[in-house]
Amino acid sequence: MALADNTSAFEIDHAGARPRPLIDPFARAITYLRVSVTDRCDFRCVYCMSEHMTFLPKADLLSLEELDRLCSAFVAKGVSKLRLTGGEPLVRRGIMTLVSSLSRHLESGALQELTLTTNGSQLAKYAAELKGYGVERVNVSLDTLDPDKFRAITRWGELDKVLAGIDAGQAAGLKIKINAVALKGVNEDEIAGLVAWAHGRGMDLTIIEVMPLGDIEESRLDQYLPLSLVRARLSERYTLEEIDYHTGGPARYVRVRETGGRLGFITPLTHNFCESCNRVRITCTGTLFMCLGQEDAADLRGPLRASESDEPLYAAIDDAITRKPKGHDFVIDRRRQRPALARHMSVTGG
Ligand code: SAM
Ligand code: SF4
Repeated sequence: MALADNTSAFEIDHAGARPRPLIDPFARAITYLRVSVTDRCDFRCVYCMSEHMTFLPKADLLSLEELDRLCSAFVAKGVSKLRLTGGEPLVRRGIMTLVSSLSRHLESGALQELTLTTNGSQLAKYAAELKGYGVERVNVSLDTLDPDKFRAITRWGELDKVLAGIDAGQAAGLKIKINAVALKGVNEDEIAGLVAWAHGRGMDLTIIEVMPLGDIEESRLDQYLPLSLVRARLSERYTLEEIDYHTGGPARYVRVRETGGRLGFITPLTHNFCESCNRVRITCTGTLFMCLGQEDAADLRGPLRASESDEPLYAAIDDAITRKPKGHDFVIDRRRQRPALARHMSVTGG
């Protein structure tokens, strides 16, 4: 930004200049923030939550205004990509108010992308509005195209509603990427079909290896399907071509020659993706997690509420980023049946 000639260096530092960008101890610039806007959900996916999940008291949640202020502080510190997630972000009451107010950062150019990850159940209702606020791309989680299996995996979900959400999203002009968790003995026979279906509709597909987060009343070993196996099986049917496509995230992409579509693999257990990590996560109570796979966290709700000035918040964020770890080490094996972390994916938003 050009500064007026008579602006002194002192004023640049102390009067409204952009706060310092976020660089962690391993020289990684933090430019991507994922925000869990609620821990609640209208589904109970077997790998994510137990059926009788206990949610946070509503009083602990940040208000929409506080979420906006928190996100805006990160944008001021150089975050250029913001993903709303949950729980299910589209079940948070008033969520469009937040999307609407955050869209000002798209208009100003400070934010390059505002996006969300959703189970798609409410997408038919909100797709056009999201597009209107500048959301261009949405990730929809969908593990199967079989209505009975869908019900068994999500416990409470209806496949038809999600498919209608995807239709509405595409009709509104949203670019949709499908995320599917590979589950042993559940959808492993369907993955090749999911590739054909997603690519046939012009959607990228990313397959995710199940991660040991949160106690879910089921054995992780029963669910765990290594993506090395999925990939080997897909190679029998498709030609998977290595491509140079990186999003700065954990997915490794290939092009499927027969469909022309892109296929991603997220393998936190068999492949470590931490070297290029550019992201941090905040929960709906304002806790900042510097790594999805580690417990260390920083409370931002305190500094947020302590002052109308953003300075204490900036200081707390800076301090937390100095503690961003180099990486994580998830393990599921027969000796460690317990989750690697007690925290559920719905708390930090995946
Ligand atoms: N409710 C939204 C949804 O399902 O897309 C957003 C939140 S959900 C926690 C984000 C992603 O995490 C989903 O794609 C979901 O499949 C994935 N997920 C949840 N629990 C997981 C686990 N234990 N291992 C791997 N992926 C998981
Ligand atoms: Fe809800 Fe998403 Fe977790 Fe499924 S994966 S229970 S849709 S938060």
